[in-house]
Amino acid sequence: MTDCLFCKMVHGEIKPRMVLETDELIAFEDINPQAPTHVLVVPRKHIATPNDIGSEDTALIGKLVLAARKIAAERQLSESGYRLVMNCNRGGGQTVFHIHLHLLGGRQMTWPPG
Ligand code: AMP
Ligand code: ZN
Repeated sequence: MTDCLFCKMVHGEIKPRMVLETDELIAFEDINPQAPTHVLVVPRKHIATPNDIGSEDTALIGKLVLAARKIAAERQLSESGYRLVMNCNRGGGQTVFHIHLHLLGGRQMTWPPG
């Protein structure tokens, strides 16, 4: 756990540009933004990948989505639209092994993603 970048943010050892903090999650600006809005929503609980989400975590995952939606609304993205992404393992593009929801918006998203 000590080697986990996002656990260090949760514990205040590394200070990202914080957007939102609750008792169960934090949200902060991605350091390498892929869109005008690129926020990561991260549970305080260390869960390595989506494969490791348990049935006891279902409410927590819902809270990640609601937090992302709230941030999108604050940035006037609700109507224009935005994208929520959770990558799983290397093949899915995951590089930080503590689950997180990407909130991307402020530009036209394309499909399929790269
Ligand atoms: P993923 O590839 O889905 O695991 O996403 C990891 C994300 O974390 C990438 O978009 C990175 O740009 C972002 N990231 C890595 N290090 C930091 C950091 N120190 N502060 C903020 N975002 C970071
Ligand atoms: Zn962690």
